Amino acid sequence: MDKEEKKREKLCPVFKKCGGCQLLNVSYDKQIGKKAEQFKNLLKPYCKTEKFIGMEAPFYYRHKVNAAFGRDRRGNIISGTYKEGTHILVPVEKCFLENEKADDIIRTIRGLLRSFKIKTYDEDTGYGLLRHVLVRVGHATGQIMVVLVLASPILPSKNNFVKALRKEHPEITTVVVNVNDKKTSMVLGDKEHVVYGPGYIEDVLCGMTFKISPRSFYQVNPVQTEKLYTKAMEYADLKGKEVVLDAYCGTGTIGMIAAEKARKVIGVELNKDAVKDAVANAKRNQVSNIQFYQKDAGEFMLQFSESGDQVDVVFMDPPRSGSDEKFLGCLIKLMPKKIVYVSCNPETLVRDLKYLTDRGYQVKKGVGVDMFPFTTGIEAVVMLSAGHEKKKSGYYKK
Ligand code: SAH
Repeated sequence: MDKEEKKREKLCPVFKKCGGCQLLNVSYDKQIGKKAEQFKNLLKPYCKTEKFIGMEAPFYYRHKVNAAFGRDRRGNIISGTYKEGTHILVPVEKCFLENEKADDIIRTIRGLLRSFKIKTYDEDTGYGLLRHVLVRVGHATGQIMVVLVLASPILPSKNNFVKALRKEHPEITTVVVNVNDKKTSMVLGDKEHVVYGPGYIEDVLCGMTFKISPRSFYQVNPVQTEKLYTKAMEYADLKGKEVVLDAYCGTGTIGMIAAEKARKVIGVELNKDAVKDAVANAKRNQVSNIQFYQKDAGEFMLQFSESGDQVDVVFMDPPRSGSDEKFLGCLIKLMPKKIVYVSCNPETLVRDLKYLTDRGYQVKKGVGVDMFPFTTGIEAVVMLSAGHEKKKSGYYKK
């Protein structure tokens, strides 16, 4: 470790304790260099990669911030993150990755708890009320949502609490109570009620407005997300006549951006809340050539491939675990001309690429995007095309 790295380590007192980042001690240029190299090597058997897309201002990019609440040994209220794989709460005062306003709000809430006699939840005994605070910030709109995750449904003097919180942070546009009464490491529970504002925020991406509810997936780094989606659209190169499938569509972001340049878009997503948001988003943006289905993507593909319908371009953006054989098998049956694969985990990406390239697809283009600076995470977009045409033209040339 050189001097520079040692100095950088000291930037954060909980570096290596909290687990939120791994590369705070590495200069950003070096991080990008390493990630680009890693990605290039992973895709080597398939295609040359384009220039890795880094972030211009790589700090404070997380627009979704989650803090767990508890007490230290002396009984002081603390908030922060659980050390990876443990139940040890590491106090976080300030984080270089998290939106600064969100961190401010979390600090304010910590300061308000005592006067409102709100106890923090104790994981061991099950006593206490406040488990987590989740803050989501709309990058383009400035709207802010605060989700208070409680162990039971009643927040004492909730109106005064919201008033006191908004007095410090008038930018907060909505406050939601989420109830998580289970012994679980999941942050959010199933039940929630709105205590202030509409219960969601909105953000703008690639010219479209998106509704974000507490539980629906929305990328945490909006600046890089725009670059990611722009690449995905460039790779899809839609001409206006295509039938497009947006698989693992979340709140419908990719599909809605594609809809402008396609004949018809079908979105499929497992999460009910996300699908509700997606439907509302389509209405809000007056996109009428899109339909959403709430279903397991593989299950949907099976029905779709059996129905005899055709699809020209498939966008797929699965979770870290990647896609599954059911989905990929149907994809091979349907053989869309193009697949644009957006991935947040290069390992499962190459696994799935192997499956597809063994069965008639060719990887044409790929690029890595740094969605998570200072962490080891790599996001990527890859474009595959069905091999038929190439084989055919080769045949005819002979
Ligand atoms: N394309 C969206 C969301 C990508 S995240 C965006 O860019 O915002 C991956 C999404 O896959 C999540 O919304 C998750 O709920 C969904 N998902 C996970 N497993 C799924 C499955 N088996 N079938 C359909 N969707 C699934």
